[in-house]
Amino acid sequence: MAQVVLFHQLVQFSTCLGTDRVQDVVEVEPEGSETPPPPLLSKPPSVMQNPDPSLADIESRVQRSQRLEFDDGVALFQTTDYDTVRRLANMVRERLHGNETYHVVNRHINYSNICAGECSFCAFARRPGQEGGYTLSLSEIWDRTSRLEQEGVLEIHVVGSVNPEIPYPYYVDLVAGLRHRHPGVTIKAFSAVEVAHMAQGAGKPYADVLRDLKAAGIDALVGGGAEIFSQRVRKLLCPSKISAEIWLDVHRQAHRLGLKSNATMLYGHLETIEERVDHLLRLRSLQDETGGFLAFVPLPFHPENTSLSDISTPSPTDRLRTLAVSRLVLSNIPHIKCYWIASGIEAARSSLDWGADDLDGTVKDERIYHAAGAATPASIESDELVRLIRAAGRIPVTRDGLYRNTR
Ligand code: SF4
Repeated sequence: MAQVVLFHQLVQFSTCLGTDRVQDVVEVEPEGSETPPPPLLSKPPSVMQNPDPSLADIESRVQRSQRLEFDDGVALFQTTDYDTVRRLANMVRERLHGNETYHVVNRHINYSNICAGECSFCAFARRPGQEGGYTLSLSEIWDRTSRLEQEGVLEIHVVGSVNPEIPYPYYVDLVAGLRHRHPGVTIKAFSAVEVAHMAQGAGKPYADVLRDLKAAGIDALVGGGAEIFSQRVRKLLCPSKISAEIWLDVHRQAHRLGLKSNATMLYGHLETIEERVDHLLRLRSLQDETGGFLAFVPLPFHPENTSLSDISTPSPTDRLRTLAVSRLVLSNIPHIKCYWIASGIEAARSSLDWGADDLDGTVKDERIYHAAGAATPASIESDELVRLIRAAGRIPVTRDGLYRNTR
């Protein structure tokens, strides 16, 4: 049902915004494909174009590849000239990647949901001893990943919780076991929050934990746990979670060791537009220092089954403009990912005109967003992602977890 609601929202949205690419979308449907996806974005009625002359200076700087600053980010979030925001984001996206659009065959391992954290936006976690809590044994993880090579999986995405019952060797053995069994697969594992938790449990600095994980075979950290860096919002949303400064420093240390990572922003709850822009700029600043971020992933808040269920999930307009502003402000992070599990498949297709160049992947076995009411399928076949990318007039590129082209 929720999926149907989202689709109707998109159709409504598509009458207000839209792009002149929609005819292309229909025409490039590959031969022999089955039911074509519905056109999402119709041509905008001229009355809705609503051009904003105050964006002229921003446009001029984007055209000259100059950086945008705090006030520019706020202005891009506040304007109703959505077509200019989309057009500029698409200009940067195509400057960096042309029509190429990345996707990966990947599998998620959510190894535990038992958590000492108290995040009001989380529907995934269970308190220690609470019904529904689980922790996968290592042998269960080996079973779940036993056919990765036959399935063509190129990336394993491992993320769980802050589980006080898991001993430190479990994490290192998990990575070492995956690396031993799957030497050619990228292992993208653990958020900064989990790394900080491991460090506390092991009584080590987190740089040492990162060294242990790297020696075991990890390639990259996942980007989760960033939420919104604003201290004001973190106090309300996730008071026991590591601070923004620690989150950034774990990634800094990881990058210095040669590990890569992603970065996220959970938006659409209690934060202001200014706090979103501040979040983006803090990531850009760390990227200037280390160059270790591969992708930025804006994550729309899903309220179902959380203690913030009275808040609406971000509108389709907000989702697309957040992708676009991210692309424009984060000029030094190569990839902007639309995580289709969180956004919905059809919104993901639209996102490719709004700055996104990556649709993540097949995502087998995801549990975190589905616990929060995501109405998307549990996974998608690689062929379907390819079809979706082609239907948007883009060129699909199969990547591994480090964005190496595997065509
Ligand atoms: S978001 Fe992470 S740390 Fe917070 S409660 Fe959920 S699993 Fe625990």
